[in-house]
Amino acid sequence: MSPIAANLNAVRARIAAAAQSAGRDPHSIRLLAVSKTWPASDVSAAFEAGQYAFGENYADELGAKAAELAHFPLIEWHFIGALQSNKTRVVAENCAWAHGIGRLKIAERLSAQRPENLPPLQICLQVNVSGEASKSGVPIEEAVPLAHAVAALPRLVLRGLMCIPEPTGDVALLRRRFALLRELNEQLKSAGLAVDTLSMGMSHDLEAAIAEGATIVRVGTAIFGSRPSRAQTDHTEGVVSQ
Ligand SMILES: *Cc1c(COP(=O)(O)O)cnc(C)c1O
Repeated sequence: MSPIAANLNAVRARIAAAAQSAGRDPHSIRLLAVSKTWPASDVSAAFEAGQYAFGENYADELGAKAAELAHFPLIEWHFIGALQSNKTRVVAENCAWAHGIGRLKIAERLSAQRPENLPPLQICLQVNVSGEASKSGVPIEEAVPLAHAVAALPRLVLRGLMCIPEPTGDVALLRRRFALLRELNEQLKSAGLAVDTLSMGMSHDLEAAIAEGATIVRVGTAIFGSRPSRAQTDHTEGVVSQ
């Protein structure tokens, strides 16, 4: 068995155990394998081990990898990073989902650029559940109006919410952040929006997220290994593009 296949099995076992302790059906939680910085060959290895959904953070890298792996049409690409408005097209054309959306302008561009031959792009709004401790995502008090505006766009489907809490070893604090996202999703349901997705939990905190209702966990390091630092990655990308 390849190391990636073994890691995938270990992560699936963690998800199953966390679901069981929370009294939840393990099948109600989807694993998104975060392949950012890793080559297409690692995505293929995971795909051959039965993993279909992959998350990418950088639009250029997503475009390159999707092209390289076009012979695997079953791969489902999710964009999970902060998206700049000049990079929306590659996401609109290649992804099934986008999770990092925190501004209406970005959502409008994705809707306008979504190709007619593809189903609507599925969206999770990123919410800043950490207040001052974080900068990314829509502020909590603006999440409901943004959700209504995004849900009204023709080529998008609002599926739910996503968060990345500030890094902390304080599990009780993490659980409060994740619980806040769950409560906000309940608020959207009460307001008549058909949301069903909570995208939360990563390699180090997926148990806390599942305990609070995560339906998608986004896991990179525990599957593919530790990433090189961003500085090294930028250097490598610079060399490749020359
Ligand atoms: C990198 C990343 C992940 C995966 O993080 P790991 O700690 O490697 O599991 C999940 N979500 C987002 C938004 C990320 O940028």
